Amino acid sequence: ESAPIPSYAARLNSPQRDAVLTTEGPVLMLAGAGTGKTAALTARLAHLVATRRAWPSEILCVTFTNRAAREMRERVAGHIGDAVEGMPWLGTFHSIAAKMLRRHAELVGLQSNYTIIDTDDQLRLLKAMIVEQKLDEKRWPARQLAGLLDRWKNRGLNPDDLDAVENEAYANGRGQHFYRLYQDRLKALNACDFGDLLLHMLNILRREPEVLAHYQQRFKYIMVDEYQDTNQVQYLWLRLLAQQRKNICVVGDDDQSIYSWRGAEVANILRFEKDFPGAKVIKLEQNYRSTPHILAAASGLIRENSERLGKTLWTEIEAGEKVRVIGVWDGPEEARRVGEEIERLEREGLPLDQIAILVRAQYQTREFEDRFIQIGLNYRIVGGFRFYERAEIRDALAYLRVIAQPQDDLAFERIYNQPKRGLGAKTLELMHRHARNTGLPLAAASLQLADSDELPKRASATIASLMGQFLHWRELAETVTPSELLRTVLDESGYDAMLQADKTAESAGRAENLSELARAMEEYGTLGDFLEHVALVMDNDRADEGEKVTIMTMHAAKGLEFDHVFLPGWEEGVFPSQRSLDEGGLASLEEERRLAYVAITRARRRCTIFHAANRRIYGQWTSSIPSRFVGELPADHITEESTLTGGASLWRAGLSEHNDPFAHVSSNRPDRSDSRGPGWQRALTTGYDTAPKRVKEATRSVASFAAKPRTDIAVG
Ligand code: ATP
Ligand code: MG
Repeated sequence: ESAPIPSYAARLNSPQRDAVLTTEGPVLMLAGAGTGKTAALTARLAHLVATRRAWPSEILCVTFTNRAAREMRERVAGHIGDAVEGMPWLGTFHSIAAKMLRRHAELVGLQSNYTIIDTDDQLRLLKAMIVEQKLDEKRWPARQLAGLLDRWKNRGLNPDDLDAVENEAYANGRGQHFYRLYQDRLKALNACDFGDLLLHMLNILRREPEVLAHYQQRFKYIMVDEYQDTNQVQYLWLRLLAQQRKNICVVGDDDQSIYSWRGAEVANILRFEKDFPGAKVIKLEQNYRSTPHILAAASGLIRENSERLGKTLWTEIEAGEKVRVIGVWDGPEEARRVGEEIERLEREGLPLDQIAILVRAQYQTREFEDRFIQIGLNYRIVGGFRFYERAEIRDALAYLRVIAQPQDDLAFERIYNQPKRGLGAKTLELMHRHARNTGLPLAAASLQLADSDELPKRASATIASLMGQFLHWRELAETVTPSELLRTVLDESGYDAMLQADKTAESAGRAENLSELARAMEEYGTLGDFLEHVALVMDNDRADEGEKVTIMTMHAAKGLEFDHVFLPGWEEGVFPSQRSLDEGGLASLEEERRLAYVAITRARRRCTIFHAANRRIYGQWTSSIPSRFVGELPADHITEESTLTGGASLWRAGLSEHNDPFAHVSSNRPDRSDSRGPGWQRALTTGYDTAPKRVKEATRSVASFAAKPRTDIAVG
């Protein structure tokens, strides 16, 4: 070929070019991080269009996030210009399936204007159904059901299919029935949940030969990035669509499979060669992203995994710095250090958007957010709510606000029935009306209302009891620290119990966030100080433009790259997570290790890992053990430093009784233990009886809910 090399192919190495030019037949590109898999896939897309092998609308290209799709679209546009605009089938599995389903909705009993319900809607629907079905909500928590339904859908299982799946049908006869009802209900609502998007489409492709034939014809080429994280239903869907032409190119890295908890199956990589015999397997070995030290550190770590295909990686990038492992005294020091490092990079002229902090769990972001606000460093949280905006944090803050500020109607409205106390919208309406008529704040008005006979007895008693609790907490606020107050409130209000009853992974995360909130509050003398701090944080959240440091979870960082990556919290119980240590055995530990591999390989120039010797958990110092992953990093490629000298080691000596190396085993996870805290015991023994006497007593205190807030706990 004597034609000049087109722009999209100019930079590619030979195996990459091979992947681009092998347009016909199945192709499996299997390669490590940063080897240019996504780059090759993008070039392939450009090539197919530029050489007129297909119209943009005849290519199906699946990316893992919408953001990745947008990036790919932009890059392809750089090569082929406007042609990219006619690419309706470039997106995530969900977005593509949703688009298809719009056209064929009637085939599964929906109208084309069906609604896609979000998780909140789904939970509300499930809860209503649990009540209707007279299921025991404790045994069938809505979140758990949602998880179960999702797992089935991820596996491509319809209610009827469960008969054939032994364990499922056996263990969940009732679940199957519920699943069927739930699907019927969604249909009646002309709605579907996220899982349905793919399942419905799979059903259609399986049952409607003409539809299947149409798409098999249409998609001349199919491409999939991050293939290692496809789940069963996605796999089946792809296999059907590609069966005719077999022009399917998938790209992945078994070492980066980190979504098995969402049903992803690495086995799909291995199965590919079986389902598409004669598939061309292309391996890329040259890494273009990271310095040799970063690459060697990551490779050394992942070598500890037994379940892997194994691969070689090399780079021509010049040596650069070793991966730094820094031991600090505690969480606040960690945040301070990261802040300082970032400020230094900023002074050196490095753009903030080339810096990322990747955490294992959402709750870890809080310490950084607080610190960055304090020093005025611009940051953004990707793929999640900012700490203080999360639902459970807002709930907890609402309780505290009502304690500090009984006239805070908004806060009161948020939590008067959270956790559920059986106070419905009707009660709220009456409370509002009474508040309007009397000019009292909502809390005070509701208390007055409770003493009248306008409300059902039960509602009156519940309100009086809640008000009794608030009075008690306000008294308590004078004697205990803000964080102790919070812990008591969460216990006694039943909020903790609500989370405990809910056995999903999500609820564990919520409990973690709440204990992180308690930890944050330990830094403040009074409740007022703390609430003021939060108010300012929230305000800061609104005013932000310009370059920002990215804070995100390791999971969300997949496929991305940054010059500088900070990896805090590499301690046993944080990373690897306590959950993976408790529950999963080897498999989930290996998944954590793959996550570590993903995290390190996001870095281009410099990677800095932190571990703290102490974490404050529920007001108690517990010593932490550095993550086993730190120990697994090859020594030649890291430098270790520790700030634990001088003052710090004196500290350590002084706190030696807290330095029991096994302390973390039990105390590092208070929010997940089965025993309920002392506050709960207290609530059980004292109780807040709902006798009429109590109603009267509490009612006399209307004044205390209407009073002007004390100045020391007032919030501006
Ligand atoms: P991951 O496994 O993390 O998703 P990847 O294999 O998809 O990584 P890319 O993101 O495509 O890797 O590429 C990593 C970096 O290397 C990018 O900055 C990309 O621009 C660059 N790159 C890819 N191929 C080449 C090449 N042939 N020459 C120079 N740079 C390249
Ligand atoms: Mg990639």
